[in-house]
Amino acid sequence: MFQAFLIKYGEIGVKGKNRYVFEDALVARMKQVLSDVEGTFRITKEQGRIYVEADGSFDYEEAVAALQRVFGIVGICPVVLVEDRGFEALSGDVTDYMRRLYGEEKKTFKIHTRRANKNFPMTSMEVNAELGGRLLEAFPNLSVDVHDPELMLHIELRSQICIYSEVIPGPGGMPLGTNGRSMLLLSGGIDSPVAGYMVARRGVYIDAVYFHAPPYTSERAKQKVVDLAAKVARYTGRIRLHVINFTDIQMYIYDQCPHDELTIIMRRYMMRIAQQIAEETGCLALVTGESIGQVASQTVPSLAATNDVCTLPVFRPLIAFDKEDIVAVAKKIDTYEISILPYEDCCTTFVAKHPVTKPQVERIRRSEQALSEKIEEMVKEALGGREVIDIT
Ligand code: ATP
Ligand code: MG
Repeated sequence: MFQAFLIKYGEIGVKGKNRYVFEDALVARMKQVLSDVEGTFRITKEQGRIYVEADGSFDYEEAVAALQRVFGIVGICPVVLVEDRGFEALSGDVTDYMRRLYGEEKKTFKIHTRRANKNFPMTSMEVNAELGGRLLEAFPNLSVDVHDPELMLHIELRSQICIYSEVIPGPGGMPLGTNGRSMLLLSGGIDSPVAGYMVARRGVYIDAVYFHAPPYTSERAKQKVVDLAAKVARYTGRIRLHVINFTDIQMYIYDQCPHDELTIIMRRYMMRIAQQIAEETGCLALVTGESIGQVASQTVPSLAATNDVCTLPVFRPLIAFDKEDIVAVAKKIDTYEISILPYEDCCTTFVAKHPVTKPQVERIRRSEQALSEKIEEMVKEALGGREVIDIT
């Protein structure tokens, strides 16, 4: 029944002179996701509205699902577009629309008309009243409720007339590409894919780095991270994944440093390395899935000790989330089932029995001195030998 969608977008609306930048980014991303959907689509901008129109047959379900992954969209309205042939014809079209969509269903309704085309011979109030009367006559199952209607029927009078009553929620946020690029530390866990999704939802492109430690971590553990990145990329567009072999660095830290400080020192090296890749690739910030108190390395003193080596801003969107809230998002974006697969992580392989929970930055810095210049060489080597995988 529907050949077109009206796209509602939220915060973009208030961006003043830069508004077109946001709209163009939104349209570009919509084109990208729709290119994988069966059908031919035309996207048009008209007076603060974006329309998607399908030429000929198309996969409705897929088109909606694709648009639901476009950040910046708050609502997807399946619309019927009709030519302006005067009120009588419109009344017929709307009656037809209501019959096909709701049939005999008992419902309260309200009509909301917007007259963008000021040449239309009736005011929006007149259209509301007249059309409401016609519908009440045609459908004994309908009644009017202007305060809390079950069904809001929108009529937009433009060069064409747009009829809709359904709003399918979009993901919200800001269009991709309107806020630069950041480097996500992506592990195989539940949290980091969600963190990447959340930052991307604010318009930030995401690249990722994964530290693996063969033979302590398997190929399957790496594949899991690739699979997670692919799930996230459905929302964020291409993710360039840098895979760093972390084994030698981890072993060396294990040999040289106090074992209760291992995790913190390892995490400091992860941050340093991620930061170097970020700077090299034009990423302006790091993103992690850390959350206060979740594990020993995420107490506030531990986070402070890790953050001590960071010169770039570190975004931790989950910082105040409870695990169950994170899990809910992971399920929504379909990463959860992959995340709970039981492959080992490089952090768990070398973890101490009693890690410090209140590390002192000064002491950690002193412990790291035992690593001398040799660690710099190892970092260089790890960076040089990294594998780069483009995930679309
Ligand atoms: P996650 O569920 O994201 O793995 P976690 O609860 O297991 O998080 P940690 O293992 O302490 O927590 O890791 C905290 C954050 O550090 C992760 O969210 C991720 O951003 C980053 N991180 C941890 N391990 C790795 C890794 N092997 N490669 C890349 N980043 C990692
Ligand atoms: Mg983890």
